Amino acid sequence: MTEYLLIDLDTERWLCRVCDNDFGDANGNYKEGTLVYDRDPREIHQPIIDPEKYEFTFSPDPAYCRILEFYCPGCATQIETEYVPPGHPPTVDMLWDIASLRAQWEQRATDPMVAITYGPGEDVQRHTHTPPQTPISR
Ligand SMILES: [Zn+2]
Repeated sequence: MTEYLLIDLDTERWLCRVCDNDFGDANGNYKEGTLVYDRDPREIHQPIIDPEKYEFTFSPDPAYCRILEFYCPGCATQIETEYVPPGHPPTVDMLWDIASLRAQWEQRATDPMVAITYGPGEDVQRHTHTPPQTPISR
């Protein structure tokens, strides 16, 4: 679904593509299964001009903006970030019709993990899935 998130269509669970951590029901928001770091935006976007001289420095005001970083509790991979007003709950950025996804992949008769190989590095398949065992021929 993203570089670091997949949906297991058999179990209908959100999983980490790096460590297979289970983030929860794929019919819901994966962010509920993540660790959240509520960042002061000034840590990310430091003032460009002197804050002693100017009221507005091109650095976000933490009274109006927070940066939420979402991490996998299994491997500490940063899954997502978002900018929200202070106190705003995490947004829902993906809701999927799991039955429809499953039907589409069944119609293709292809393993989605073979067909879609983008992810955390070229060797994501090696880290997330056991390669098919091929007999050694002599
Ligand atoms: Zn992980």
